[in-house]
Amino acid sequence: MIFEVITIFPELFSSVFNFGIVKRALVRGLLQIRYHDLRAFADDPHKKVDDRPYGGGDGMVLKPEPIFRAVAAVKAGGPVEEAQQKVLLLSPQGTPLTQALAAELTSLARIILICGRYEGVDERVKEALVDLEISVGDYILTGGEIPAMVVIDSVARLLPGALGGEFSATDESFARGMLDFPQYTRPAEFRGLKVPEVLLSGDHRKIQIWREQQARERTIKNRPDLLGIPYPPRQS
Ligand code: SAM
Repeated sequence: MIFEVITIFPELFSSVFNFGIVKRALVRGLLQIRYHDLRAFADDPHKKVDDRPYGGGDGMVLKPEPIFRAVAAVKAGGPVEEAQQKVLLLSPQGTPLTQALAAELTSLARIILICGRYEGVDERVKEALVDLEISVGDYILTGGEIPAMVVIDSVARLLPGALGGEFSATDESFARGMLDFPQYTRPAEFRGLKVPEVLLSGDHRKIQIWREQQARERTIKNRPDLLGIPYPPRQS
């Protein structure tokens, strides 16, 4: 799988993906991440990639031409069947990113990520270039770079072999439509706080039942929507 990131701030990504599971997956060749500086596709001498919005209003909008050129250059750089690739725009107006969507994206050979900035991108980019807009939550960030990192991280760790033997993506929150159960490690008692007896019992059946119960209880408390239960009214 190759991620191609189109951004005005390629430098932002290096520290994030230079560590941990994604770094290991990169070293093992399970994925590649390439960065494309949007300014390199600007056609004016000042490398300007934004302009004022038609109709007035605050802020600037990313111009369409550099983005169209950047996507064309990426696609020309290494042909991949259309069905095997997607152009994603990071946008608060997009489809919410979920674990299920991240898993779906692992089947692609190439994902091109367009990072917006300022007031966003010219609408014609969405109309003619983008296969899917993805949002990382109902809040506004300053740019699409952090959302792009979130997409890459959530997809990369699901690629076969990325997690190694140490973790399993099937036991995690959301994988089974519920939150994960509570985890404890040594010591068995810390500042008077004890690890639940059942986890020290060695009885795997009891541990399994306890974990299921705990996962269910915390899902009902924190994310009842995952179980189809409406949220209780918020306390003021
Ligand atoms: N004016 C836009 C709106 O209200 O929908 C928000 C623009 S935002 C300040 C600038 C860029 O950050 C967006 O184009 C997008 O790429 C990115 N962005 C901000 N919040 C995001 C979110 N929740 N999910 C995905 N991308 C986001």
